[in-house]
Amino acid sequence: MPHPATLIPGDGIGPEIVESVLAVSEALGNPFMWEMAPAGLGAIATHGDPLPQSTLDSIRKNKLALKGPLTTPVGGGFKSVNVELRREFELFANMRPATTLIPGGRYDNIDITLVRENLDGFYAAFEHYMPVGDDAKAVAFSAGFNTRAGCRRIIRHAFEYAVANGRKKVTIVHKANILKALTGIFLDAARDIAPEYEGRVAMDDRIVDACAMQLVLNPWQFDVIVTTNLFGDILSDLIAGLIGGLGLAPGANIGANAAIFEAVHGSAPDIAGRGVANPVALLLALGLMLDHAGDKACGDRLRAAIYAAVVTDEIRTRDLGGTAGTADITAGIRQRLR
Ligand code: NAD
Repeated sequence: MPHPATLIPGDGIGPEIVESVLAVSEALGNPFMWEMAPAGLGAIATHGDPLPQSTLDSIRKNKLALKGPLTTPVGGGFKSVNVELRREFELFANMRPATTLIPGGRYDNIDITLVRENLDGFYAAFEHYMPVGDDAKAVAFSAGFNTRAGCRRIIRHAFEYAVANGRKKVTIVHKANILKALTGIFLDAARDIAPEYEGRVAMDDRIVDACAMQLVLNPWQFDVIVTTNLFGDILSDLIAGLIGGLGLAPGANIGANAAIFEAVHGSAPDIAGRGVANPVALLLALGLMLDHAGDKACGDRLRAAIYAAVVTDEIRTRDLGGTAGTADITAGIRQRLR
């Protein structure tokens, strides 16, 4: 029986890569029964709202969604729909696994899962400006927060993920030397919880700046990384770079009552509408969604077909150094699923 799921095409390259998802899903035997739902810039034009109620209702009903990237205006404009969705469905864990797909790159055999706290930190900050003289925006304030309960929940989630996936180590990333309260509370929670996993999963910790350098110098020392919201956002893009770029990095937003899967990358307005976007990150997110829905065999079949098309058949989009378009790589993966 196909699982009912919401599918949000999104903005920029979103509709192009979602078309690829639909074509590949069909070749997989339609494991999901898609309910199309609008969000983002496009939804303002059609529904007067970047996050229409009908889309929220669809996700609430299906508890499962795959989302194309959504454009967020920089500086002013409407709030990030991504952040709103995480808050609305309490999607507290952002899982970003990065595994080498194409061997022989600058870094080989990378296999790191970054677990990002998805609700608090500077993403939940109270921001405002203070005027000085005739400058209305002379001083900018941001007051982020982390809660002990939120820290404990994400750290436990990271350790449980490590146990369930045969991982050996969880690295806690923080900046408790400077942001002593904001990220000290995170480190304290980790030190409290890690002993429960002694003998099964090792724990160490890094200051975020040192972690960034060590990820570049020796990424193989990392297994599972768990960190606060902003650090997780930045480090996961760095880690995506280690495996060949954003075109290969999937993500999952997990909550108690819903899960939303997506690519780590954004709407890539610079290449939108040109048929050159790499659909692999969103297809790998589809694989994570199949695993989550209990259909790991289908997820493995999809990953094997992606590997065969991209690595064996060398069908690669421009971001991976090839010349293929979105339709070529989609056709190559479909061919491998026959
Ligand atoms: P981006 O990830 O959209 O693009 C960064 C660079 O990577 C660009 O050069 C782009 O062409 C390239 N790229 C990204 N995805 C690609 C793909 N699948 N195939 C080939 N090349 C790809 O980041 P940005 O330009 O900083 O952000 C654009 C918009 O996306 C912004 O509005 C931002 O807020 C939004 N955004 C959304 C999400 C999301 O929906 N989850 C995530 C990040 C950024």
